[in-house]
Amino acid sequence: MKKIDKNEEAVIVIGSGAGGGTMVYELTKAGIPVVCLEAGAFIKPEEYVNDEWPSFVQMAWLDKRTTSGNWRVAKDFPGLPTWLVKAVGGTTTHWAGATPRFLEYEFKTQTTYGDIAGASLLDWPISLDDMESYYDKAEDAIGSTHTNGRPPLAANNNYKVFANGAKNVGYKFYATGPYGTNAVPYDGRPGSIHDGFNFQGDKHTSKWNTAVREIPRALATGLLDLRPESHVVKITHDKSGRVDAVLYVDKEGNLHRQAAKVVCVAGNSIETPRLLLLSESSTFPNGLANSSDQVGRNYMRHMTGSMYARFDKPVNFYRGETMAGFIADEVMHDANRGFAGGYYMETLALGPAFMAAFLDPGGWGEKFTAMMDGYENLAGMWLVGEDMPQSNNRVTLSASAKDQWDLPAPNVHFDDHPNDIAMRNYAYEKAEQLYKAVGAVQTYRTPPYPSTHNLGTCRMSAKAQDGVVDKWGRAHDVNNLFVSDGSVMTTGAAANPTLTIVALAIRQADYLASELKKGNI
Ligand SMILES: Cc1cc2nc3c(=O)[nH]c(=O)nc-3n(C[C@H](O)[C@H](O)[C@H](O)COP(=O)(O)OP(=O)(O)OC[C@H]3O[C@@H](n4cnc5c(N)ncnc54)[C@H](O)[C@@H]3O)c2cc1C
Repeated sequence: MKKIDKNEEAVIVIGSGAGGGTMVYELTKAGIPVVCLEAGAFIKPEEYVNDEWPSFVQMAWLDKRTTSGNWRVAKDFPGLPTWLVKAVGGTTTHWAGATPRFLEYEFKTQTTYGDIAGASLLDWPISLDDMESYYDKAEDAIGSTHTNGRPPLAANNNYKVFANGAKNVGYKFYATGPYGTNAVPYDGRPGSIHDGFNFQGDKHTSKWNTAVREIPRALATGLLDLRPESHVVKITHDKSGRVDAVLYVDKEGNLHRQAAKVVCVAGNSIETPRLLLLSESSTFPNGLANSSDQVGRNYMRHMTGSMYARFDKPVNFYRGETMAGFIADEVMHDANRGFAGGYYMETLALGPAFMAAFLDPGGWGEKFTAMMDGYENLAGMWLVGEDMPQSNNRVTLSASAKDQWDLPAPNVHFDDHPNDIAMRNYAYEKAEQLYKAVGAVQTYRTPPYPSTHNLGTCRMSAKAQDGVVDKWGRAHDVNNLFVSDGSVMTTGAAANPTLTIVALAIRQADYLASELKKGNI
């Protein structure tokens, strides 16, 4: 592995998840040496644990976080507003694999939806046209099924129930993908063995994650200096306002300084704004890159909820690829439904341990126990749609809670927007109709889990006063500072975000490599 001297001004990537891992590989592939500072350890596939809670404890980001707002997560999981990972590979180790693209109108929601009270909608400074070729590259990197000639995954029982219900209620657009797990051997990794453990990291490696593809390949270029268990606590700058170094803490708590030529922050939509806020100085008293006061604002997490249904015969829904099932008929903007934007229906199965915790937190009684008793007869789906950005849904530094390094913990504030609630209620009804159309004897509306999709908080904008970064993800305020993760999303669309995060990172890496080679940075 390459060793870069701490006094050498390096290209630094903070985080190694969907955005950071992709940046690291694309830059080293282009011949650029990179230091990657990752807070988590490098857990290898053979160490992944096929057991829900031990796997969660192995990977999840469990540093202190607080939450506020009227969302139910604040009541059910006050210390766990988000479900994110601290490990090389970031949250792609835990992710399921759903990889839909954004639709054209979803890049221009302010124009399409018009003004919506309380929403801070903004059109992206880029369009689907700008993204198409990068979506192709991202799908090839991830190996998304159903794209570029890759075959679909086989249907599991949960999908068969879901697809029959879809047919019976008249939906037309349903399939087992696009999905980021190999149906057949591809790109040096095997086809799925359908063991149902893709949330747990996938020991078998048929699922894409940056710890099994991008990071090992970047190491193989000989240009990556990967430093796991290195938690960045501050980005510093010189007199002119250019970033010049990062300070990080190793696992023993020792503080280090790495000199920087360029910094790409990819800590996810909670830790990225937190780090920028922690990096305040006399030149940037409100935090780095925050002259617009937009850092941390417009936090989105998708409209979500789940629907579980009990049947009179076994479904064994936990077998096979967890989320390999999509219905896309509700992804459109049709104001006649009583809300703006659209949503996907996606198959979902949890093991009994997670089901007991998440089916209805704090729930009990006849309806609840009938579902748990009938576990093997359950089918399930997740509802995931566009939520409205709101200026006051935001990540801030807690005034009282501290993390293990004595730094202010992030507080995640989220209020549901009336549009999110209207969409969720409509989606619950449609999901119930679908399962009843195939004979469900009981349905159960499950409230949102801690956020797995964390978006916004450093949004991309054409004008500096509306956001934090420009159309390349470069900070409006600081020439050599980039944001390379899900926090750049101007709006969230209905699609699961990772394909778009990877496509944006490939696009940003192309731009950054070319600017570096031209000597512009
Ligand atoms: C159970 C589950 C299922 C999911 N399923 C899907 C799906 O099917 N489809 C989909 O599109 N998305 C899915 N997601 C979401 C997806 O995983 C995330 O959207 C994506 O990984 C976010 O990428 P990111 O680069 O923004 O952040 P991450 O992937 O979270 O990476 C951030 C990295 O930065 C590191 N880091 C943070 N702060 C610091 C710091 N100060 N110093 C050093 N390192 C730091 C973290 O340790 C982490 O490794 C799922 C998530 C979960 C939890």
